[in-house]
Amino acid sequence: MAHLELQDLTLAFGRHKVVEGLGFSLDQGRIGCLLGPSGCGKTTVLRAIAGFESVVKGSVRLDDGVVSDARHHLPPERRRIGMVFQDYALFPHLTVARNIGFGLHGLPAREVDERVAALLERIGLPDQGSKYPHELSGGQQQRVALARALAPKPALLLLDEPFSNLDVELRERLSTEVRDIIKASGTTAILVTHDQHEAFAVADEIGIMHEGRIQQWDTPYNLYHRPANRFVADFIGQGVFLPGKVLNNRQVEMELGVLESKIPVECGVGCKDCNLGCHVDVLLRPDDIVHDDASPMRAEVVAKAFRGADILYTLRLKSGARVLSLVPSHHNHALGEPIGIRLDVDHVVAFHDEAMPQPGVRLDGSIPIIPVS
Ligand code: ATP
Repeated sequence: MAHLELQDLTLAFGRHKVVEGLGFSLDQGRIGCLLGPSGCGKTTVLRAIAGFESVVKGSVRLDDGVVSDARHHLPPERRRIGMVFQDYALFPHLTVARNIGFGLHGLPAREVDERVAALLERIGLPDQGSKYPHELSGGQQQRVALARALAPKPALLLLDEPFSNLDVELRERLSTEVRDIIKASGTTAILVTHDQHEAFAVADEIGIMHEGRIQQWDTPYNLYHRPANRFVADFIGQGVFLPGKVLNNRQVEMELGVLESKIPVECGVGCKDCNLGCHVDVLLRPDDIVHDDASPMRAEVVAKAFRGADILYTLRLKSGARVLSLVPSHHNHALGEPIGIRLDVDHVVAFHDEAMPQPGVRLDGSIPIIPVS
């Protein structure tokens, strides 16, 4: 049985439902993540798991017992849940060691000292126990906050945007460190963030949230390569949609040629048989379009973003549609230059074309280029 299980959860503020029919489960020792745009309900779900919000419908089960449903509500302090917030929330007048040991009342002093020393070691600050929080960097303070949350050996650890106060470079490094520390402790954890890089670096499985519902609960790989719907395809990674016509369940014809798919093409709800010439929008990621000087297929460079090892090119096709291509940065081409491209698609991701107004353009009219940081 799952260690944490949310079933058919509805959460509301007064008459305003912010989460509806939400469910997922997490096994012991796994790290899950709720990822989604601002206001989609991530924090409200986290607070409901912690016991700070009551449940209108559905249930939260932890460690094989119901902690919240419409009739029962176990108080937060009895749930054995540790929390880490974006502002660290350390006690400024207590040393680092006393901050970490804060939740360990009732244990013999020697045991507290041993557990604090082991955690200081695990967070890479073995000699910093006597310092005060203000004497540490932001990243070090967040590691202390994590150690404090782990010290009482919680049944579940909740992390609410834990890296958003840190600069980008530190965020990347710390997110890997935090994952390692949580994994070494064997604790089941849930992270809430709107940053997909953070989610990918920390979590084993991720739920993409939109308007109070989970759109897809999956591994980072599947979210990127097998998005369940347009929202997930658009929210995760970068890419564009181009129109195509399904020739049979392994082939889609489009401006760039015939795409061959290693797995059967499914173009979404209501279409079980894609042999019928369905008109679809095909998702093309920047790594699906390969720069190849020898290719007769040409596209014009209309924008480029230097990324160090790679350049992300925006290319205009003959029809005027635009695609993205990630190219090693020693292939440095000028704006306006036509370059050779070919498709390198492993499997086709396609959706029915009814909702796309123009090729290569998002529903809101913008060019669908999603920033990477
Ligand atoms: P962010 O990433 O911006 O923190 P979020 O996905 O965590 O967003 P929530 O904070 O869960 O979103 O908010 C979901 C919705 O619930 C929003 O529309 C918000 O305005 C509303 N909401 C949150 N807290 C309250 C509250 N205490 N009273 C009334 N409405 C609230």
